Amino acid sequence: HRSFPYATSPPDKLLGGLLPDGLDERSCRSRYESTMYRRNPGRQPSPHLISKLRKHEELQRRCGPNTDAYNLAIQQLRAGKSAGSPECKYVVSISYRGLGNRILAAASAFLYALLTDRVLLVDPSNEMGDLFCEPFPGTTWLLPLDGFPLQSYTNFSIDTAESYGNMLRNRVLSAGADAPVTPAAELPAFAYLHLDHDYAHEDKMFFCDDDQRLLSNVQWLVMRTDLYTVPGLFLVEAFREELDALFPERDAAFHHLARYLFHPTNHVWGLVTRYYRAYLARADLRVGIQVRNFNPTHAQSPHVLRQITSCVWREKLLPEVVLATEEPHDATAAAARSTAVLMTSLRPWFYERIKGMYWEHGTATGEDVSVHQPSHEGQQQFGKRSHDGRAWAEMYLLSLCDVLVTSGWSTFGYVAQGIGGLAPWVLQKQPENLTAAPDPPCFRDVSMEPCFHSPHVYDCKMKRGLDTGKVLPHVRHCQDVSWGLKLV
Ligand code: GDP
Repeated sequence: HRSFPYATSPPDKLLGGLLPDGLDERSCRSRYESTMYRRNPGRQPSPHLISKLRKHEELQRRCGPNTDAYNLAIQQLRAGKSAGSPECKYVVSISYRGLGNRILAAASAFLYALLTDRVLLVDPSNEMGDLFCEPFPGTTWLLPLDGFPLQSYTNFSIDTAESYGNMLRNRVLSAGADAPVTPAAELPAFAYLHLDHDYAHEDKMFFCDDDQRLLSNVQWLVMRTDLYTVPGLFLVEAFREELDALFPERDAAFHHLARYLFHPTNHVWGLVTRYYRAYLARADLRVGIQVRNFNPTHAQSPHVLRQITSCVWREKLLPEVVLATEEPHDATAAAARSTAVLMTSLRPWFYERIKGMYWEHGTATGEDVSVHQPSHEGQQQFGKRSHDGRAWAEMYLLSLCDVLVTSGWSTFGYVAQGIGGLAPWVLQKQPENLTAAPDPPCFRDVSMEPCFHSPHVYDCKMKRGLDTGKVLPHVRHCQDVSWGLKLV
């Protein structure tokens, strides 16, 4: 058995320079301790990404809450006037829906902020401050609600008059497609970017170069998305060169963004580390299995159970059980290797079956397999602190596994695979009327990147439909969501 912690050399606490030095270690232990729990060291950030992050931290400090520049920008927002060439520009990311969605949204908004030299402020709704440590030294990334003039911003929707799409539609703004480009002095103080899954064609013009040029002069942007929009940003020509320099390994974009931004607070880190040490640390191999049932009628489906076991057996991720009653295996063989399975799911049913299977029957190889599931919350809940804390701890525990099996379509699994740096085996989403286990039960994903579920299918230059999964060799269609886009 390997000793714990694993690192034989001093752990690379700052992840190859990704993380800033000089933050208080005790106030956010996960930032510095996670390398001790992770066997897969992950990818190295590019020198350009590192220097860009350090510059961006400086921007967040200079323009963030409680600075003169921030107070001035708030005054301008309150007055509703566009500031000629503002010193500081902002993007506010609305936090809503499930935790996976919120993480993908904040990561997408952060990359957009990096590319456009904007300060990222995160809407503090849904306990964002309780779940994540502050990522930027010497300032806060949480939007102070006190004194923020757009009081109802969390209710902004596709119908909001100030949405970029509606302003284009109502000819309040023009990016130069059919009419002269709106001069900077006539721009509003803010625009709402509706990049939600239900967004319309005009909202999606966000992913076009002309529109980005226009938006670059709007001081405040409020963004709502439940999507991982990063592959869409790769399609904007103006961003390409910078993105290539930031992410020479495109398939690690979310990996770096997430490891930079999202560190569990000490409370959540306690949930992660106690569980890890108690149930996973001593195993030779840790297999994470994330079961997300989008269809409640499949909550206790033997076909889904079969899908899971066929996947892990066919792909040789776990040893098969020997169903015939036989003499127990030689105990020395069993002692040779131990495997721990970490399951996460809203319900206990699949966990109980799989755990029971490995208790009732021996394995073909004689190895012992222990099966663990930290919680079974029953159903998705909104706005409950302990619920989200457990979800975040479980995502993080999955990311600490050596091998990952996830459920297609689920942003919960995307976050785990990205932080862990693992290309998962993906359980294909089951069809509505399931009569047998899907065949094949799972596929190996081409990259660890999340899928962008609702991309624009449009050629901004030619103004006509375009399969955006065929434009760049590293922006392809996803296997789990066939019309989605992902970086490979
Ligand atoms: P998605 O809906 O699968 O894309 O993932 P989200 O994270 O956005 O939303 C699902 C929410 O349901 C999570 O944030 C959790 O609150 C809850 N949830 C789903 N699966 C699990 C699980 O395996 N464990 C826990 N603790 N919560 C889960």
